[in-house]
Amino acid sequence: MSRYEAVIGLEVHVELKTETKIFCGCSTEFGQAPNTQVCPVCLGLPGSTGVLNKKVAELAARAGLALNCKIGAYTWFDRKNYYYPDLPKGFQISQVFRPIAYQGYLDIEVDGREKRINITRAHIEEDPGKLIHASGSIMTSRSSFVDYNRSGMPLIEIVSEPELRSGAEAKAYLEKLKAILEYTGVSDVKMEQGSLRCDANVSVRPVGTAALGTKTEIKNMNSFRAVQRAIECEVDRQIDVLEEGDSVVQETRAWDENKGITMSMRNKENPDYRCFIEQEVSPIELSDEWIKDLRATIPELPDARRKRLVAEHGLPDYDAGVITSSLALAEFFDATLEKFPEAKKISNWIMGELLRLLNARGMELSQSKITPAGLASLLELIEKGSISNKIGKEVFETMFEEGQEPAQIVKEKGLSQISDEGQLTRIIAEVIAKNPKSVEDFQAGKEKAIGFLVGQVMKATRGQANPGVVNTMLREKLAE
Ligand SMILES: [Zn+2]
Repeated sequence: MSRYEAVIGLEVHVELKTETKIFCGCSTEFGQAPNTQVCPVCLGLPGSTGVLNKKVAELAARAGLALNCKIGAYTWFDRKNYYYPDLPKGFQISQVFRPIAYQGYLDIEVDGREKRINITRAHIEEDPGKLIHASGSIMTSRSSFVDYNRSGMPLIEIVSEPELRSGAEAKAYLEKLKAILEYTGVSDVKMEQGSLRCDANVSVRPVGTAALGTKTEIKNMNSFRAVQRAIECEVDRQIDVLEEGDSVVQETRAWDENKGITMSMRNKENPDYRCFIEQEVSPIELSDEWIKDLRATIPELPDARRKRLVAEHGLPDYDAGVITSSLALAEFFDATLEKFPEAKKISNWIMGELLRLLNARGMELSQSKITPAGLASLLELIEKGSISNKIGKEVFETMFEEGQEPAQIVKEKGLSQISDEGQLTRIIAEVIAKNPKSVEDFQAGKEKAIGFLVGQVMKATRGQANPGVVNTMLREKLAE
């Protein structure tokens, strides 16, 4: 047992799913040519002032409600002053003093243990632009470019209390947060497109003490798995530093995915942002009535949906947890169930073949060609005995890649299960003739030998025979 415990808090920046930016009418569409979605407001040109996009306040409050936060009836924006080339105004408009949402929580589960993680605040702010370094890294580039398409994109920053104790808990927190924001339609939550970004504050302290150790802030993590690894690595590093009698330096560190280590980026001694109230953007006033109406539009969230799948469809809790971890999977499950009413069989295929193929190819469900109707037809073919489970997996993969109807794939590839007894009788006779030792074993009472013989018939039919039928026919033949 370690004598130390980790104290971890996460700051998650989430891009809100709006059509236009926070204070201007520029498009928020991802992946456009650099500096094509800009105007005087989001370029911060002198004399330009913007107006708050109402949708931003709505989505931020929506996220707050889904995260069990209190919603501020009267909140405003502040200026955070600092200089950087991606911030042309020289200040960022944020909510420093009064966040729109505060004092919430979400529940996580790690190794079967549930834990509540409190959320300090969720506040609205604008995203700065993006620096693009000529050779990939600021350290080695002779020049850098700035893309202001991202400047003025609406964000919420969700700050957790420092209540996470391991990299695994941090990963579980992020997965739950992502699911909730996806369910509520607040954000696309795509880490690879930067619509969800996470920084981790990490410190360690001797077990049983309450005072917080000196923390470091870890940046540059590009997946939830990377967050977990970076935290685990940083916790070990800090323990080593303390064990050697040194002290941890307060600084920002970058995660190096390839080397699997964190590296010092810069010392961070609480910068003074000289924050003051932003006078040019109106405050946000929300009536109790408006908040109540908004609350009524929050859909069923992952935990509730998981409980419902268990209660209504008799799914094991584990299956329900996997399926409800993403809205896309949960909706896929529901739509399949409408056409093929056997929940457990569907969850087996989702958790087995579907997730296996998605993970292996690093794809999202929406990128595959499989449809709920297609999976339902496939399960019917297996149910009727037209194809075996094994052939079903082969058909599934073709559906996943090419999107044809399962019946068509079975027909084109000649995969129909052989139930023609004449053909099977011939193959069984051949297998018996070729394997006298196994036949002898079986007749001497070795039950296992029948399994081998069934296997040989399956092999000879390239998996297209019905194993149950083969088993019965073999036994009949051997009993003659
Ligand atoms: Zn603009």
